[in-house]
Amino acid sequence: MLSDRDRIFTNLYGVHDWRLAAARQRGAWDNTKALVANGHDWVTEQVKASELRGRGGAGFPTGLKWSFMPNEIDPERPHYLIVNADESEPGTCKDRDIMRHDPHLLLEGCLFAGFAMRAHAAYIYIRGEFFNEAQTLQAAIDEAYHAGLIGKDACGSGWAFDIYLHRGAGAYICGEETGLLESLEGKPGRPRLKPPFPAAVGLYGCPSTVNNVESIAVVPTILRRGAAWFAGLGRPKNAGTKLFCISGHVNQPCNVEEELGIPLKELIEKHTGGVRGGWDNLQGIIPGGSSVPVLPKSICDSVLMDFDSLMEVKSGLGTAGIIVMDKSTDMVEAIARLSHFYMHESCGQCTPCREGTGWVYRMMQRMVSGEASTDDIDLLWDVVGQIEGHTICALGDAAAWPVQGLIRHFRGELERRILERQGVGRGVADAASRAA
Ligand code: SF4
Repeated sequence: MLSDRDRIFTNLYGVHDWRLAAARQRGAWDNTKALVANGHDWVTEQVKASELRGRGGAGFPTGLKWSFMPNEIDPERPHYLIVNADESEPGTCKDRDIMRHDPHLLLEGCLFAGFAMRAHAAYIYIRGEFFNEAQTLQAAIDEAYHAGLIGKDACGSGWAFDIYLHRGAGAYICGEETGLLESLEGKPGRPRLKPPFPAAVGLYGCPSTVNNVESIAVVPTILRRGAAWFAGLGRPKNAGTKLFCISGHVNQPCNVEEELGIPLKELIEKHTGGVRGGWDNLQGIIPGGSSVPVLPKSICDSVLMDFDSLMEVKSGLGTAGIIVMDKSTDMVEAIARLSHFYMHESCGQCTPCREGTGWVYRMMQRMVSGEASTDDIDLLWDVVGQIEGHTICALGDAAAWPVQGLIRHFRGELERRILERQGVGRGVADAASRAA
């Protein structure tokens, strides 16, 4: 369990004041000028050495991503840092708590990240529904300007740095990095084909890097305490602390900072008071936000919460939005609800996603009612496999994975419903689905 002295987010629950004076007492903006004086490349190298992987879902190494930005600045093509604060993945609410309770960690992180990538401006793209968080964040930005921490001579470092807050309009797809860039440019948030990647052609055609709020907010502490400290937490290649959002059928849903690699069962039992009705009442858990495949209890018993461990069991850490479902959950209906979400949020550019997500939802409705045939389960598996990896952005994958998880681990439940509707007695249907 993470010790208090290793916690980065010391005001996660908003017990203390978020404003500048209190944030400084907690250590924010401490020694910033001297750290910046170490140079652009030093900052990037520290973040690389810390083994920080992006906290927005994909888990790409943050320092490596920064190093893709050009070293020289073309006066015609300024560099931009973009912070993805569009947190829209169902089950996820960690960036919201950073922005409303510890906004100065994010702002100081913006200065370090922007400086490392030779950017003089950062745009924070915040989810439109986060009205109060946007108010807080803007007030914190104003405080930082007033105190000279950002602006023409940020922290007296000689580096000019501006931060702009931009409110989105509530589309899930604007959380995809190139959809976000389109939206920021004032266009509909339709993801771009890659390559070119944003580091080459990003915002307004200029070199840009898009990072998640949490990825940026941990950087000041990494620089102050040292890359080795951060890399020493967690597991190899899965380093550091992570904010986990635990919701669903637990006694006390919560956000909590823990080391990566903590066993899922320990995380839930220690921080939420356990699964409603006890661990044995658990049916399954979605471990990383709605887009990753659900895991049955047998895997949840022992799986570790980090990028690689969850990949090994064919799921993912994603945003670490943990959705706990006890035995009262209609698993088929729950996944069908997610299929509806992804159908609704598809931007419609690519055929497999536009047509496929609607087809999958309609088929999932037939699975819920039991009107489908058992052959349809294989057909559904085949179709989601043809959506996965065949689209411009990852929304296609996000639509496919929950259904794949359902078929992989709960096929018996799908078959039981179908056989029951066909008039096969419940006992026979149960036996048939167990034998399948
Ligand atoms: Fe749009 Fe879906 Fe294609 Fe992404 S995968 S670009 S959301 S149609």
